[in-house]
Amino acid sequence: EKYVYFFGNGKAEGRADMKNLLGGKGANLAEMTSIGLPVPPGFTISTEVCTYYYANGETYPASLNDEVEANLKQVEQIMERTFGDAKNPLLVSVRSGARASMPGMMDTILNLGLNDTTVQGIIAQSGDERFAYDAYRRFVQMYSDVVMGMDKHALEHLLELKKAEKNVHLDTDLTAADWKDLVAQFKAAIKQELGQEFPEDPKQQLWGAIGAVFGSWMNQRAITYRKLNNIPADWGTAVNVQSMVFGNMGDDCATGVAFTRDPSTGENYFYGEYLVNAQGEDVVAGIRTPQPINNHQKKPGDLPSMEEVLPECYHQLADIRTILEKHYKDMQDIEFTIEKGKLFMLQTRNGKRTATAAIKVAVDMVAEGLIDEKTAVLRVAPSQLDQLLHPSLDPKAEKKVIAKGLPASPGAAGGSVVFTADEAEELAKNGKKVILVRIETSPEDIHGMHAAQGILTARGGMTSHAAVVARGMGKCCVAGCGDIKVNYADQSFVACNGVVVKKGDMITLDGSTGQVMLGEVKTVPPQLTGDFGKLMVWVDQFRKLKVRTNADTPHDAKVAREFGAEGIGLCRTEHMFFEAERIAAVREMILAADVEGREKALAKILPMQKGDFIGLFREMKGLPVTIRLLDPPLHEFLPQEDKDIEELAATMQVPAATLRHKVEFLHEFNPMLGHRGCRLGITFPEIYDMQVRAIMEAACELVKNEGFSIVPEIMIPLIATVKELAVLKANAVKICDEVIARYGVKVEYLIGTMIELPRAALTADEIAVEAEFFSYGTNDLTQTTFGLSRDDAGKFLPFYVDANILPEDPFVSLDQNGVGQLVRMGCEKGRSTRPDIKLGICGEHGGDPESVIFCHKIGLDYVSCSPFRVPIARLAAAHAAL
Ligand code: ADP
Ligand code: MG
Ligand code: MG
Repeated sequence: EKYVYFFGNGKAEGRADMKNLLGGKGANLAEMTSIGLPVPPGFTISTEVCTYYYANGETYPASLNDEVEANLKQVEQIMERTFGDAKNPLLVSVRSGARASMPGMMDTILNLGLNDTTVQGIIAQSGDERFAYDAYRRFVQMYSDVVMGMDKHALEHLLELKKAEKNVHLDTDLTAADWKDLVAQFKAAIKQELGQEFPEDPKQQLWGAIGAVFGSWMNQRAITYRKLNNIPADWGTAVNVQSMVFGNMGDDCATGVAFTRDPSTGENYFYGEYLVNAQGEDVVAGIRTPQPINNHQKKPGDLPSMEEVLPECYHQLADIRTILEKHYKDMQDIEFTIEKGKLFMLQTRNGKRTATAAIKVAVDMVAEGLIDEKTAVLRVAPSQLDQLLHPSLDPKAEKKVIAKGLPASPGAAGGSVVFTADEAEELAKNGKKVILVRIETSPEDIHGMHAAQGILTARGGMTSHAAVVARGMGKCCVAGCGDIKVNYADQSFVACNGVVVKKGDMITLDGSTGQVMLGEVKTVPPQLTGDFGKLMVWVDQFRKLKVRTNADTPHDAKVAREFGAEGIGLCRTEHMFFEAERIAAVREMILAADVEGREKALAKILPMQKGDFIGLFREMKGLPVTIRLLDPPLHEFLPQEDKDIEELAATMQVPAATLRHKVEFLHEFNPMLGHRGCRLGITFPEIYDMQVRAIMEAACELVKNEGFSIVPEIMIPLIATVKELAVLKANAVKICDEVIARYGVKVEYLIGTMIELPRAALTADEIAVEAEFFSYGTNDLTQTTFGLSRDDAGKFLPFYVDANILPEDPFVSLDQNGVGQLVRMGCEKGRSTRPDIKLGICGEHGGDPESVIFCHKIGLDYVSCSPFRVPIARLAAAHAAL
């Protein structure tokens, strides 16, 4: 068995399509080597070793040592240096690399192979003692932190003391002798703290680092990232060992990161940042504010660009940009380093991008002939569209701008300020909107970034950790905001004009302009660009599944139609009962002692309901509208607290005791499984009669007065047995026919049911004899299949997900194995007795991409989701069909 794959000198054993085995970084280092790009030689230890490592008590396959030795030899030959050699030592980096890119999640160690002997060789080679000792101390810091578990602050503290002693502010002001002394101090501190010598033997260092990379696969940060991004734990990581190149050997050296197109807007120009005389992570970590790579990006006040400072390297890099895009046919995110005027490529991967950029890049690449329309549709993740469909700042709103940073991730968000990730998580759990403010973020802050509405950092560029992660999450982020001074101790920050913002104060961020504003600023609905429209035309050509919306008001219906909804899949009529003027009549109906009393009250509600339906039908002209008859238990319409009961009794002019008695009478121990849905229709037929009458009168009036027809789909909820449906359908048909006859017009209508109880799914063949359509109410179906109360599950469901007992919240993404089987069975059984039965889904799952794909697979006719998720469902349906 082969565990190690070599790359270097134009040849590589791996390829880009070997990501499963080599991880993304290793596979692409191999690919770049093969296509002739300048990549420092190295080798990749495959993900199979990671799997082996965890399956065998953290040990390696027997042959691994020999393979590593042999590959190291090859690197030594190309570099003409020897690992551990006193005169001419080879230094390497040890880099993790999972299948899917996990930015910053795993720890990389640079300058490995340095010790008190080899550092002399580096001094001789480079002729630069200061550089050599700087590299050495960086290595000791990284290695002791990542591999040995040393508290890195202890070493940073020693560095601070040194600077104080020398009375300097910048690392760059320290001399070779200072660094040399610090290396000794660091090692002594490590010895003292850990009771363990810092390893001098380069081979021991190498295996320590390899072990640490495999070990880091199971660290908390990596686990959190995988959970948030649905990456299975058993994929494992690869380890890349690569010869070092140095961006920190002087002013003809540099390091940087770039995107082949703008990752925020998708615009087709080269976009990146670099630092002169710097190593590796300096750009990403935001320690120094980086400079733009070219003049296109340069803004007044920016430091010189790489195009100006290192023109030859810049042009070589710009050529590589074109080669990479032609080769990968996608926007790339690259890392490079320049050592003494020579350019090296250290990484490429498909770049993370905002939804706007994803759409623009996909549409542009079709126009450029790089990809076809299908590929373009598949390039945009359905869940990503969410960020486009949310509000941005109202341009007319008054804004008190207190600072400006980099527009790192677009969108707008307001919330109260917090300074730690834990606090952000805590407050968000309680439903508070928060903005996480940090000097800079690190992977340890992921959970807080996830919980926050937006992120503001004082330091770091467009490719800093905060920016990259926020863009990936679709979260608004303003980064590198040098205008603010954050004071963690005081839990406050000061903006440039002296405004002090304390923990808990409201601020608003605009991730598209970089502005930071005091207070909460009004937002406006999203503006969808021409590219969005173009993409959605392709989307609609490919998809088979129809997409409807869940809407109760003409306004929601209108929004949904603008987003491309092809009808209403669920109109919840109870929402219409809650309006101030109506609730009185509804309560009168509930309190009525007999049928006559109820009918009298219902007669008051009828015209209002009819008005609602007319409004809805008008918005949905020409499209199907499914209306669900009353579903919730009646107690939901009455107050529960003593004080409220008394107040209501007074306004209704009934004795409080009567009202209280009614409330007690309606009380249920388990209302979700109680007197609701069709059970109300069975016991109080006059309620459903009124609703059916309102629906049909609305439809008839539109035909008669406005000359357009609509086919109402009357939906009866919570059916468990066909008998319930048979009774209620007969009632409804009687009313429908009577109304149609009265108006003397022709109106078609359908009567169907929700399938939301397991018994309904199990007997769907019987139910389909009566039902002309099924709509899966997967919220209730999930609740009743799991025996899991939606309203109480919050107390334990998160633990289930954390402990991996459930892969995710089944109310968010359909449980395909369990609940999904009932849906599938219901469809098959339903079609067996009524082949042309219309099948749809109207639970929250209708807007969840994975669930939409499932619905396509089992052959539903449509999904129905909330208005803002309609484009997401359309795109997911296209993905399902491709
Ligand atoms: P991450 O996955 O966090 O980006 P990387 O393995 O890419 O980690 O490395 C972190 C930093 O170290 C990057 O800036 C990278 O360019 C730099 N680096 C890695 N290997 C080398 C090397 N062989 N020579 C010079 N710099 C390197
Ligand atoms: Mg990297
Ligand atoms: Mg339901």
